Amino acid sequence: MRVRQRFFILLSVVVFVTIMLYVYVYSVIDNNRLMAKMDADAQEAKYAFQAEQHASELRMLQIATFVANDPKVQQLFLKGKRAVAAEGGGAGGVEAEKIRAQLYEHLRYSSDILAQQFQFRQLQFHLGPGSLSFLRIHQVDKFGDRMDNVRFTVVATNAIQRAVTGFETGRVVSGIRGVVPVFAVDGATGENVYVGALEAGTSFNIALESLKKNRPWLDSAVLLHKHHLQRNMWPNFLAGLLEKKQFFHDMLIEATSSGEVAGLMQQPELTGILTAGGHELVTVGDKYLNVCSFALRDFRGLTDVQQPDAGLVVLCQDVGAAIATHRRNVNNMMLYGLLLFISLELLIYFGLRYMTSRLERELSLSQQRQAASDKLALSATEAARMKGTFLSMMSHELLTPLHTIIGMGQLLSTSNMEAEHQRCIDKINLSAQRLFNLIGEVLTIVKLEDSSLSTEATPFNLQQLIQHLSGHFLPLAQNKSLILKSKIGERVPVYLRGYPDLLERVLSQLVGNAIKFSSGGEVIITINMLQLKGEKVTLEFGVTDQGIGIAAGHLTEIFEPFYQVDSSISRAHEGAGLGLHLAQKICQQLGCRINVDSTLGVGSSFSFVVQLEVDSAASSIACANGLESDTAVAQTERETGSSEELGALLQQLHIPLANLQAKQCQQLGQQLRNKSWPTTYSDDVDKLILLIEGYRFSEAQEVLAWLQKML
Ligand code: ADP
Repeated sequence: MRVRQRFFILLSVVVFVTIMLYVYVYSVIDNNRLMAKMDADAQEAKYAFQAEQHASELRMLQIATFVANDPKVQQLFLKGKRAVAAEGGGAGGVEAEKIRAQLYEHLRYSSDILAQQFQFRQLQFHLGPGSLSFLRIHQVDKFGDRMDNVRFTVVATNAIQRAVTGFETGRVVSGIRGVVPVFAVDGATGENVYVGALEAGTSFNIALESLKKNRPWLDSAVLLHKHHLQRNMWPNFLAGLLEKKQFFHDMLIEATSSGEVAGLMQQPELTGILTAGGHELVTVGDKYLNVCSFALRDFRGLTDVQQPDAGLVVLCQDVGAAIATHRRNVNNMMLYGLLLFISLELLIYFGLRYMTSRLERELSLSQQRQAASDKLALSATEAARMKGTFLSMMSHELLTPLHTIIGMGQLLSTSNMEAEHQRCIDKINLSAQRLFNLIGEVLTIVKLEDSSLSTEATPFNLQQLIQHLSGHFLPLAQNKSLILKSKIGERVPVYLRGYPDLLERVLSQLVGNAIKFSSGGEVIITINMLQLKGEKVTLEFGVTDQGIGIAAGHLTEIFEPFYQVDSSISRAHEGAGLGLHLAQKICQQLGCRINVDSTLGVGSSFSFVVQLEVDSAASSIACANGLESDTAVAQTERETGSSEELGALLQQLHIPLANLQAKQCQQLGQQLRNKSWPTTYSDDVDKLILLIEGYRFSEAQEVLAWLQKML
């Protein structure tokens, strides 16, 4: 499978999962919102029911108050009370019967009208204390019975002579009651005396119907517990009731807001909510109902928490529309999600296609560019290689005739000629030497760039290397009255393995510059050991002069090719500004770099630190033992050579050599030239000796042996 396809599938899965997650979260949130709304609706329904019940109670209270305020009613009720008392209590006798009839007649018509208007079901006069029924307007043939344990509203009113309201189940029916105290003016005393309680009652049906009218979406039912009914009702009335209705879950439906609710209550799906109470979403058939139920407390239950609940109020709200909306919302969201997914898929697919084709195009373009640049690089390398080859060949080719020029020039300078010619030939010799050095530098640079400079470690004698170097530069130093010294520090190993040629080239450059840019004082070559670890030795090489010095601003530039601090001064000396650049490059090859410290007018100090190996094969580490090997000394100083053997030989030679005549010196010089040793100063004995000292030890030995033979 291609990367693009894999990426597409991965991206598709991520997009799909993200969208599904979003849809899921949305549906959960919407569901929670629906549930929260149903909770709020259930709570609101409960408050609405309680408000309706309260309104019914107040209405009953109004009716009772209205009737109780009728003076005739008051007087008749007072008379009735006294008659009952006079006739032995209970139902009373003939007089009580007469007054009861008068009271009934007085209220018969008006109570019918009131009942229609205010929807009350019963009107009853009770005598206190407790509750003794004096007259039931709604059931005139029943009176004289005590209801102390049934009509707690009446008992309370008779006790406290104040109005009370509440739900209560009586001997005959249950209902909402409003009970007011009835007072009457005693004709004999003119006092307003308490007579009894007047109770107006209505059924829950009225309250529930009103609730339905105000909230058509809400169905309600009031159910009464079997034990509540059995405790309060006359058994024959209860039996009559049970002929029409049946107990279920030990409850009887007392009232409903509409006919169908009774059937709904008996559905098995509602069993849970009817038995446990609470609030839940119930599915009945294809209906979704938000059902809540709570305990119904009667008047006695409200004043005495020990009393059991009278029944249960059930409120149902059809939430089919809300559920359908929720489902529609979720379905819509899924549809939008699907559309979004398809759109994103198309976008991703074409986007990826576009991007990959663009990338492929760019890749092929960059491959083409890379190929072109590779080709260019190849040809550049080839060109550089050819340039290198050309330069090295040309340098070699130039060196051959130059050797001849130098040789011939030197030969010519030894012959007798006029002073003018001598000056000319000296200039030719100097220029030829400069050219020789320059070509040498160019050749070295080419070799360095070409990496063809040999960097193979070879064994060498450090002391001899320094002696050779000093010997080479000594004549130059002497010409400028400079003291050239070398100081090899204590414990510096003499037998080493490394790159003597490269080391000598760097040192030659530094010493050459030191001499070139000094007009007096000392030029000192120093070698100090910084570290010796096993066979590895770290040496610091330094060349210090007391010459013109370099201004701080030029200290980094002097290593740039062709850079000269002052080209006019430099031109007074030989040089093309390549020397330090070359030396630094060699040092880089040796794994180090040249540092410079200089003060204008005071002098300069160049140094570099290089790691070499001690040549254990050379049997021992010859240390300089703290001996300062002052190889080269100007006219003022001359020390023995660094090697005792060489010193001894020189001692032997010094006297005979000192006695040499100029002629003999010339002959010696000639001989040395024939052996192709540089013998510029061979006409001067001291210089000759110094020259011999400057040779490497083995060469010096050879020269000395030859000289001994000659002498
Ligand atoms: P050059 O061939 O001119 O000597 P180099 O690369 O060897 O070129 O040196 C660059 C420049 O650095 C010199 O021209 C000179 O100005 C300065 N320089 C190098 N060595 C010294 C020194 N020992 N004292 C003063 N100036 C120096």
